[in-house]
Amino acid sequence: MACAPALTDLHGRTISYLRISVTDRCDLRCRYCMSEKMTFLPRNALLQLEEIALIAERFIARGVRKIRLTGGEPLVRRDAIELARRLGRHVGSGLNELTLTTNGTRLAEHAEALFDAGIRRVNVSLDSRDPDTFRHIARGGDVARVLTGIAAAQAAGMRVKINMVALNGLNGAEIAPMLAWCVAEGLDLTLIETMPLGAIDEDRADRFLPLTGVLAELQEQFPLVRDRHNSGGPAQYWRVAGTGTRLGLISPLTANFCNTCNRVRLTTEGKLFMCLGQDDQVDLKAAIRAGGLAALDAAIDRALALKPAAHDFRIASGAAPAVSRHMSVTGG
Ligand code: SAM
Ligand code: SF4
Repeated sequence: MACAPALTDLHGRTISYLRISVTDRCDLRCRYCMSEKMTFLPRNALLQLEEIALIAERFIARGVRKIRLTGGEPLVRRDAIELARRLGRHVGSGLNELTLTTNGTRLAEHAEALFDAGIRRVNVSLDSRDPDTFRHIARGGDVARVLTGIAAAQAAGMRVKINMVALNGLNGAEIAPMLAWCVAEGLDLTLIETMPLGAIDEDRADRFLPLTGVLAELQEQFPLVRDRHNSGGPAQYWRVAGTGTRLGLISPLTANFCNTCNRVRLTTEGKLFMCLGQDDQVDLKAAIRAGGLAALDAAIDRALALKPAAHDFRIASGAAPAVSRHMSVTGG
């Protein structure tokens, strides 16, 4: 098929990063992410592995250089490893990097297979190392399994970054100890502000912890040096001087990052969302099923024209979420 043009949106931003939510399902129910009683998509609504691979490969042909598998919890999908193997074949020939974001509950059993598939870096969510606080935030789960998974990923040869959502009154006091632990264990840490995505059972405003204040406190305790590393994403980075640990801060509420946005997101039912915080989407599943790769290309072009300039997140007491989709649907 003819070579399609690169992916540039109407605001001049080049798209080089695709996130794929391989399932909206999860074995945890983190309070800031989901409601306790979630309704998930019926299995027959999901993209088949072959369709995900074809769409991803078309994005690679059009200039995507990084793909992240996420969800929901990607490792609860039975063919997730098979998908990783299929996409991993493109690493070094088209794709620069294949990565994964996981809650870590099944990482120990899959770490070696993920490494063999070509994954060298993995993000693991860990909002608390305290078993009770972990269970409270995730509404279940065993933090020991996640810690074992992190160790297994490191042993398999992967660089691990911890994702921690900063939650007022829940884990604020654990942030500095978490950074100290990451330094000791050779891990990176990214702190995330809670984002208004999808209805949950609580008011996010009660748990919102602005990272500006958190950073000021960390600077008093750690020798943090600004790091200009740019992933084309929302994080701003610091290094803990004298260590290998990088600290990232994702602050969509207190520091907007949209003007350098380089990513789009494919949901498990085949919709391409151009922005985590807006509703514009194009149905790639319908396109590929109706007209194959030519229709897929045309749908991708339509989608690019819809990429908005920015999200309009806002956390206010009693306010409705910015979008009704949960992060687990769009792929965090
Ligand atoms: N289940 C995997 C995990 O937890 O890492 C991957 C999917 S999860 C949606 C991806 C990331 O999004 C996690 O680090 C999670 O903490 C974060 N996240 C989920 N909902 C969020 C929200 N409303 N605001 C900010 N971060 C959120
Ligand atoms: Fe599941 Fe990840 Fe959402 Fe937690 S943050 S409920 S682990 S998808």
